[in-house]
Amino acid sequence: MKTARRAASIGASATVAITSRAKALIAEGVDVVTLSAGEPDFATPGFVVDATVAALKSGHTSYAPVGGVPALRDAVAERFGREYGVPFERDQIVVTVGGKEALYDLFQVLVEPGDEVIVPAPYWVSYPSQIALAGGRMVSVPCDASRGLALDLDAITAALTSRTVGIVVNSPNNPSGAVYDAESLAALAELAERHDLWIISDDIYSAVRYDGAPFTSVLHLRPELRERVFIVHGVAKTWSMTGFRVGFLAGSRVVLGRCMALQSQTITSATTFAQHGALAAVAGDDAFLGPWLTAYDERRRLVHGALDALDGVRCALPQGAFYVFPDMRGLLDRRHRGDLIGNDRHLAELLLERAHVAVVPGAAFGSPGFLRLSYVCGADRLALGMERIAAFVGELT
Ligand code: PLP
Repeated sequence: MKTARRAASIGASATVAITSRAKALIAEGVDVVTLSAGEPDFATPGFVVDATVAALKSGHTSYAPVGGVPALRDAVAERFGREYGVPFERDQIVVTVGGKEALYDLFQVLVEPGDEVIVPAPYWVSYPSQIALAGGRMVSVPCDASRGLALDLDAITAALTSRTVGIVVNSPNNPSGAVYDAESLAALAELAERHDLWIISDDIYSAVRYDGAPFTSVLHLRPELRERVFIVHGVAKTWSMTGFRVGFLAGSRVVLGRCMALQSQTITSATTFAQHGALAAVAGDDAFLGPWLTAYDERRRLVHGALDALDGVRCALPQGAFYVFPDMRGLLDRRHRGDLIGNDRHLAELLLERAHVAVVPGAAFGSPGFLRLSYVCGADRLALGMERIAAFVGELT
């Protein structure tokens, strides 16, 4: 039987592979500290759950309009208007099945076979596959490790070719936790304008920031470029609603119209009652977030301090999201119980099998030699994970 090459080249996500192996070990009775997940460990706020249940009970169980429940589109338009300082109308917002589907639709609509899309590395694991599924080619441009994995504008400029059609920017960043500075984002916007490129601004972690780091998007800096800037967002990370699968896409009406045509032939609409839960979230009070951010911040400091103190490990203090992304290159080519650690994948494997800590290798994010650790578990478990990693590093020869 013949199958399509298109999908055969798409590998399963490395995050999922590590998490599955960790689960298998846990099922065998091993006490694994899982630092590989990409979702908050807090329960979805009660008022959101109540609104979702009420929506189900009051009969919101049929198809929603393709672009989303109108009241949700309006609430997102209102919220984005406040957060980005640019007014939005309902038809400049589309509700999607998570931020992931917003990105998928955008690449399908914006990328032609052979087109190149610039993505600063480290990057979120799904960009390369989604760009490839649209027939495009991702051009990965390393961020500056000596400046906490900040954008490297010179390198981005050098990567431009006549085939470049757009740039993806994700700040706060998954996996590095870096929050890109306004100057670099302004330069990026300038580049996009000069070379007639679009920018996808994946702002899904915008609410998760520390030390007063401001949320800056290219749209704040250059509102007049709004026709070429697409915002991807959603309820997953801010409200701990990953399983609701509700995301948002904002941008040009023409492009959004095509995304909606695509949705009408693929998903029909995001789940109707989940959209009502999302409406409660977006229109509701964010007071629940304060204690969450305090807890994340405590954990961030704990993990950063523990890792940065290790011989051969360098770890920038991230300003956003809930990940740290230490540079482990100083541990490569050393031995653990006689086995040579060849690369970050091998290091992650050994950490899981021998130290019982699940982390994701940086190669999955386009930055070999690094590891991603999520701090979405309690401080006690984190401290245990850090002790185990320190003991493992102490055993290296
Ligand atoms: N963008 C980034 C950078 C992410 O980390 C994620 C999820 O991990 C998404 C987008 C998609 O989020 P969702 O589809 O759960 O809304």
